[in-house]
Amino acid sequence: MSTDTSPLLLDGRALAAEVRSEFAAEVQSMIEGGRRPRLVVLQVGRNEAAQAYIRGQKRGAESWDLEFHLETLPADASDATVRKALRAFNADKRVSGILLSLPLPAGLGTRTLQREIHPSKDVEGVHPENLGGLLWARYGLLPCTALAALALVDQSGIDLQGKEAVVVGHSEIVGKPASLLLLARNATVTVCHKFTADLAAHTRRADVLIVAVGKAGLITADMVKQGAVVIDVGINAVPSDEGPGRMRLVGDVAYDEVAPKCAAITPVPGGVGPVTVAMLMRNTVLAARGMPPLDDPGQLPLFA
Ligand code: NAP
Repeated sequence: MSTDTSPLLLDGRALAAEVRSEFAAEVQSMIEGGRRPRLVVLQVGRNEAAQAYIRGQKRGAESWDLEFHLETLPADASDATVRKALRAFNADKRVSGILLSLPLPAGLGTRTLQREIHPSKDVEGVHPENLGGLLWARYGLLPCTALAALALVDQSGIDLQGKEAVVVGHSEIVGKPASLLLLARNATVTVCHKFTADLAAHTRRADVLIVAVGKAGLITADMVKQGAVVIDVGINAVPSDEGPGRMRLVGDVAYDEVAPKCAAITPVPGGVGPVTVAMLMRNTVLAARGMPPLDDPGQLPLFA
């Protein structure tokens, strides 16, 4: 690992390609056996912010040779209608994985509906049974972004055991599962959030820092320990220099000033994002395979 002013760049696109190639032969043999894994994305109405993610999921499925199906229900669909659609996908043997695109229109019960997805098809790892598996160290299908963050930490070469890991952001799909995965690797984990009194006091102690907030420039150089591994999950659109009205994507970490202090860091874009999509495809293949839950906390199934 580098610790001088040239950090190791954790290349998410390269890692995503590596994950894909690990599964390519298995996908091929499923296809030859007439069982091409099929990912279904269910959206209710058409949330504009979600369309970029859905396009990425479609591209990901295509590049993995998986079947992709986008089902759109009307924006005024009731809980019962969405539940019926989810149950039909649960019962359909051709469907390997189901993703309920968020946010749902106001009035629909997100958690109740996520609970309707059968845990064996829950490729985003949002069902309480899969999330509970994180606490029990019985790993089923795990949340894709948290898995991606861990896989990128692994790329840095750091041994997490006994290290100080700090997670900023405690959402159910990123911060909380990432902190449990770090804990399962025997790191000492601190989780920070909006009410953390002195964020910098925590982040400065981090050997591994995972940031998942959605606030450009939140983490500055003075908040990062020399030689840290920094995983920037945030995605924020900010005005670009390329002209009025043009936007560009940045993370939560002020990359230019933080990178020189790091042993390793993810770029945005090209870091966590592509690996998250790869983990979604990986989960779809595992679901198609009928992956049994694992028992051994030492065997975190980052790569099957
Ligand atoms: P979220 O549900 O909005 O969670 C954000 C978290 O940040 C919350 O726990 C919030 O705390 C905390 N927070 C807010 N302000 C803070 C502050 N000033 N200091 C410390 N913590 C603060 O978002 P999310 O879904 O986890 O996503 C986080 C970011 O990651 C977003 O930019 C999202 O676009 C991005 N993302 C990227 C990928 C990818 O593949 N690269 C995937 C998913 C998400 P409270 O709950 O107390 O408000």
